[in-house]
Amino acid sequence: MTRPRLTCLKPRLAPSKPRGWAPDAQRGNRQQRGYGREWEKLREQILERDECLCQPCLASGRVSVGTQVDHVVPKAQGGSDHHSNLQAICAACHRAKTAAESTGGVGQSKKFAVG
Ligand SMILES: [Zn+2]
Repeated sequence: MTRPRLTCLKPRLAPSKPRGWAPDAQRGNRQQRGYGREWEKLREQILERDECLCQPCLASGRVSVGTQVDHVVPKAQGGSDHHSNLQAICAACHRAKTAAESTGGVGQSKKFAVG
């Protein structure tokens, strides 16, 4: 069985830049925000697992390309980085979910839970 090649993944790394130019330490890099190389790897695994399909959309009968990876249970609520807590999600769903979470929305985990 052949699977189509993933097309939604961005290149892993930007082309190498000249050394000694705008050190990351000055602007706070991705690693410092907790989204480093490990997360990139995890993110690709999840997108691949979910075949780049937005899981919340799928759950409600729509098919959208998921380009982002979401914590089903937000990390702020104790969610882990485990595969079972991660899902591919489209930008629209991610925005809606994040907005619901940031307003402390009650029952948001029900609305967006998958499976
Ligand atoms: Zn979606």
